[in-house]
Amino acid sequence: SMASPALLMRVVASAYSVAEKAATIVRNVMSAGDLGIVEKAGPNDLQTKADRLVQMSICASLARKFPKVTIIGEEELSTDDVTEDLIENGHCEEILKKPCPAQYTGIKEEELVIWVDPLDGTKEYTEGLLDHVTVLIGIAYGGKAIAGVINQPYYNYEAGANAVLGRTIWGVLGIGAFGFQLTEAPAGKHIVVTTRSHSSALVNECISALSPDTVIRVGGAGNKIIQLIEGKASAYVFASPGCKKWDTCAPEAILHAVGGKITDIRGNSFQYNKEVKHMNSAGVLATLRNYDYYASRIPNTVKESLVP
Ligand code: AMP
Ligand code: MG
Ligand code: MG
Repeated sequence: SMASPALLMRVVASAYSVAEKAATIVRNVMSAGDLGIVEKAGPNDLQTKADRLVQMSICASLARKFPKVTIIGEEELSTDDVTEDLIENGHCEEILKKPCPAQYTGIKEEELVIWVDPLDGTKEYTEGLLDHVTVLIGIAYGGKAIAGVINQPYYNYEAGANAVLGRTIWGVLGIGAFGFQLTEAPAGKHIVVTTRSHSSALVNECISALSPDTVIRVGGAGNKIIQLIEGKASAYVFASPGCKKWDTCAPEAILHAVGGKITDIRGNSFQYNKEVKHMNSAGVLATLRNYDYYASRIPNTVKESLVP
C-alpha cells in the first residue's frame, strides 16, 4: 500500500481547498453589497469584511489541521471566535497524487511557515476592478518560498454569465505550477507591469530608466505574477516599500517553480522565516525570463534610495 503523503503535499492540497473557500467568501461579501471598509495605515491601506472573514477562514482552517505550523496572516485578528461556517477541511486529491520532491519529504510541521494574504488587491476590490484580486497562501521552509496557492476569485468575470468564475493556481519547487497555461511574453518587447494605486516619483523614475515599450498598471502582487506567467508582461517592477512577505511568498514559489526569478530592486532574494521583517522595504523586481536584462538597467540612484 502507498505510504501516507508527505506533510508538504498535504499542506498544499489543503491550502488549495481553503483558497477555494476563501474565493467564495470574497464573492459573497461583494454580492451582499456591504464591504465594511476600514482604513489601516491610511486611505491607500484598506481592509474590508472580505479581508477579515477570509483571514479567519484560512488561518483557522489550516491551524486546525496543522497545529504546529506557523501561520502569519496580513490582518491582525484573533481566530479564537471563528464560526464553524468559515472552516474548510477538504483537500485537493490531485495534489496528493503527486510525489513530494525528495528534499522536502522529511519536513515537520514546526519547520513550515505559511504566509497568508487573505485578499491581495483590496483597493481594486473596493473599486470594482475584480479580476485584480487574488487570495495568496505561500509556504516557506528554511526561509525559502517552496510552495504556493494563488486563487483568482473573479477570473473570467468579463466572459459572460455562463463562464466559470475563478481559478486556483498552485505550485511546488521541483514539481512545477498548475492551473494556468504558461505563456512567453512577446519576444523583443519590454512590457513592464507595476502598481496602479501605490505609485511614487521613484516608482516612475525606475520604470522610465527601463525604457519599456508598454507599462501596465494593475493592482495586486498576485495579479502581477499571473501577468508574468501568462505572457502579458515581461517584468514586474516596483521601486517602493509597501509590499509585504505575504504578498510575495506564494507568487515567488509559483514563479520559481516555472523558472522565473523575483528579488528586491537591489537583487537580494526574499527570506520567509518566521522572524523576518514583514515589509519588503527595497521593492520588487520579478521576471519569467531575462531577469538580468532588467536588473542590469535599474539605476544605482534608485537602488540607493531603497534600504532593505
Ligand atoms: P499594488 O501593486 O499597489 O497592488 O501593491 C501590491 C501589494 O503591496 C498590495 O497588497 C498592496 O496593498 C501592498 N502595498 C504596496 N504599496 C503599499 C503602500 N504604500 N501601502 C500599503 N500597502 C502597499
Ligand atoms: Mg496584498
Ligand atoms: Mg491583503
